[in-house]
Amino acid sequence: MNQESFIRIRAELIAGKKTLPDIVSAYISRIESVNKDINAVTQLHGKEALEQAERIQKKLESGTAGPLAGLVIGIKEVLCQKGYPATCGSRMLADYEAVYDATVIERLTEQDAVIIGRLNMDEFAMGSSNENSYHGAVKNPHNLSKVPGGSSGGSAAAVASGMCMASLGTDTGGSIRQPAAYSGVVGLKPSYGLVSRYGLIAYASSFDSIGPLTHNVDDAALILKTIAGHDERDATSSSLPVPDYPELLKNLEPGIRVGIPEEYFENGLDTEIRENTLRIAAELEKNGAELIPITLPHMKYAIATYYILATAEASSNLARFDGIRYGHRADIKKVRVDLKNEENELKEQLRNQPGGEEQIKEEMARMDSPMIRLYKQSRTEGFGMEVKRRILLGTYVLSAGYYDAYYGKAQRIRRLITDDFKNAFSKVDVILSPTTPTTAFDLGSQVNDPLQMYLNDIYTISANLSGICSINVPVGKHSADQMPYGLQIMADAFHEQKLFNAAKLVENVVNGD
Ligand code: GLN
Repeated sequence: MNQESFIRIRAELIAGKKTLPDIVSAYISRIESVNKDINAVTQLHGKEALEQAERIQKKLESGTAGPLAGLVIGIKEVLCQKGYPATCGSRMLADYEAVYDATVIERLTEQDAVIIGRLNMDEFAMGSSNENSYHGAVKNPHNLSKVPGGSSGGSAAAVASGMCMASLGTDTGGSIRQPAAYSGVVGLKPSYGLVSRYGLIAYASSFDSIGPLTHNVDDAALILKTIAGHDERDATSSSLPVPDYPELLKNLEPGIRVGIPEEYFENGLDTEIRENTLRIAAELEKNGAELIPITLPHMKYAIATYYILATAEASSNLARFDGIRYGHRADIKKVRVDLKNEENELKEQLRNQPGGEEQIKEEMARMDSPMIRLYKQSRTEGFGMEVKRRILLGTYVLSAGYYDAYYGKAQRIRRLITDDFKNAFSKVDVILSPTTPTTAFDLGSQVNDPLQMYLNDIYTISANLSGICSINVPVGKHSADQMPYGLQIMADAFHEQKLFNAAKLVENVVNGD
């Protein structure tokens, strides 16, 4: 598989050893040959990518190209790109074309990245296997009978199989890091607020973040530098200055304090993943790091807390997809005919019973108006099972009688989890753990068991609950199934430079540098 790093390719472009149109053509051919098996790319923008490549090649030759000239990147379909469908992997938005560019797209193209196409995902970013997509499941390039992880499964598989140099994904509970781990690539979830969410179709607004998936840590640092930074169109966007991450990476600081959280190495974790993670930690220690055992006592509540708060936010965010303002609209004529038929059936049944006329009146008053039925039918047809499950759950936890018991309580636990991290980061620079408890599972093996599926995110979710930053670094393949897995590093909010520093140290250990 093509594992070319952007930074190397860029050097070759600048030295005139390669040309960008040739590179883009090679990626297009690669997509044309392997995507039919992997199903990661939902829209290939070959012609446009080649046009961009010609234009940027001229800039490279005249020395006026931006810092991302040479980067060939794919974009998760949840991010708006003007003039192209933003389907979110859903029938609901199958015909929706974005009318503006997300800030991240604007920033990538301003810096001369070439966007090669759009990438498959779990519907509305809900899932851990990329099996919940209107475009069909994505397959893991390392073994086509396995899932690539989700919800950014297309973003991970496209990079892993060499269909692009890098991609953008989104992470609300682990959707960049978990598929990155299952597919053997680097995946970064930036701190909440560091990257503008303008143009990201929301799933759970207080958790959503956008980040890169790449072949190595340097590429992730460079892309983050481009897409990060204040944006007045996102009210939660931070105004902190963005450090020059790639520059800082040139001087690695090995003497870091690394927290080893007890709760991340307990039951359910594969033995080989545990041992290899601890072995890498020991290598870091040999190179000058200090390992410090820590505890994150509220971690056990993370999954339950997330599935209350994220579904509550989703139920509100997804209310706009009603077939009138946005999204798939059911056939209004059929809706009217169905209603008429139901009305006639009702009359037929009740007419000859004692008090029938009265009952008919009552039942008729209870029946949907054509407008309400149109909303219901449109949403019934437009959304898949998992999305419906979450809207129902979210609506339930927000309902008047249960609000305090579920939503209110989950908010308080979110605070406790955030405090656990605050406490930990007063003693350590970064926290190291596995990214997932196992390697990628078989396609179809967990789709009917939502609880089992939710457990895939056990190590990733708490970073989203607390807004800190976190990265997956691939560390090798498991001896049992030859599938990749990764190690997760977490750092306090807006300390991405610490994250990259530690990630690069791990990468060096893994590569034997
Ligand atoms: N897998 C988690 C979920 O299903 C996380 C999704 C995400 O990060 N978008 O919600």
